[in-house]
Amino acid sequence: MSAKPLLRVENVSKTFRVQGKKLHAIENVSFTLEAGKTLGLVGESGSGKSTLGRMVLRLLESDKGKIYFDGADLSKLSKVKLRALRRDMQIIFQDPKASLSPRMTVGDAIEDAMAIHKLGTKASRRERMTELLEKVGLPAEIQYAYPHELSGGQLQRVGIARALSLNPKLIICDEPVSALDVSIQVQVIQLLRDLQKEFNLTYIFISHNLAVVEYLSDDIAVLYLGEVVEQAPAEELFKTPTHPYTQVLLDSILRVPESPEQKQEMVYIQGEVPSPLNPPSGCTFHPRCPYATDICRSAKPLQRTVAECHVAACHRVEETQNLLMVNAN
Ligand code: SF4
Repeated sequence: MSAKPLLRVENVSKTFRVQGKKLHAIENVSFTLEAGKTLGLVGESGSGKSTLGRMVLRLLESDKGKIYFDGADLSKLSKVKLRALRRDMQIIFQDPKASLSPRMTVGDAIEDAMAIHKLGTKASRRERMTELLEKVGLPAEIQYAYPHELSGGQLQRVGIARALSLNPKLIICDEPVSALDVSIQVQVIQLLRDLQKEFNLTYIFISHNLAVVEYLSDDIAVLYLGEVVEQAPAEELFKTPTHPYTQVLLDSILRVPESPEQKQEMVYIQGEVPSPLNPPSGCTFHPRCPYATDICRSAKPLQRTVAECHVAACHRVEETQNLLMVNAN
């Protein structure tokens, strides 16, 4: 990473009060992101990835830690400055329909985003809106349609056009393709990639599916119960997954067992994600980890450097790497 990343997240934490108990949604997460790059945030439901995305946008305040965007400490910005900066940071949702008014045409919805931020004149906004529809691969006539008349893929393209209308630097893509058919997923991911190249966009791409983030991500952070358990350049993570949780996520997408013996050797994830209201002691992954030992149940593993820019939070990094290599052969 360069000395001056677009986004720097330093040791941020977020706790909610639920049923009188503390819920640690995000715990001590750090990363940096250069302009024009993509960080994939991966984990099962409840891992805290969407919460982290909203903290970056300051839609949720961090309890601890700092977030710097374009050199500015977000926690120190006044409401006016934050509002101006929000133009630079947009979000694409899993369900674009929910973020569009059913009573507004597609064209009005895209123009509205620009009008809210007082960008251009009515005529220039209409012109930009039609340009954006073309950029995201939609016909100009669709501007007169209402959200209920569009398919899921078309709606997501509208969501992307709306986010682009403000010329953002950073876009948080929060499970943007998980509600779409596989063939449409590929088209939308390809579109996001093309737009990234054209506009030097920076993405945080949130998904529960490692296969989806692989294509776009330069770096990947794997989250489990609000903590980063492994972080590495995408290629390295796929080549040398080190944390057992990453390995089971990868196994679930990459390997179809060719024999009963190979099936037995594969590492399967056990059980459900524990309640974040009552997280397990020590390593929070230990009840599901095939390699857990006594130390895993009693002591929290710290992040350890595995290779350059590659960290994993596991007591048994060296052993699991060997075990995982044996299983992969
Ligand atoms: Fe598994 Fe122990 Fe590593 Fe946690 S610390 S992932 S339980 S081996």
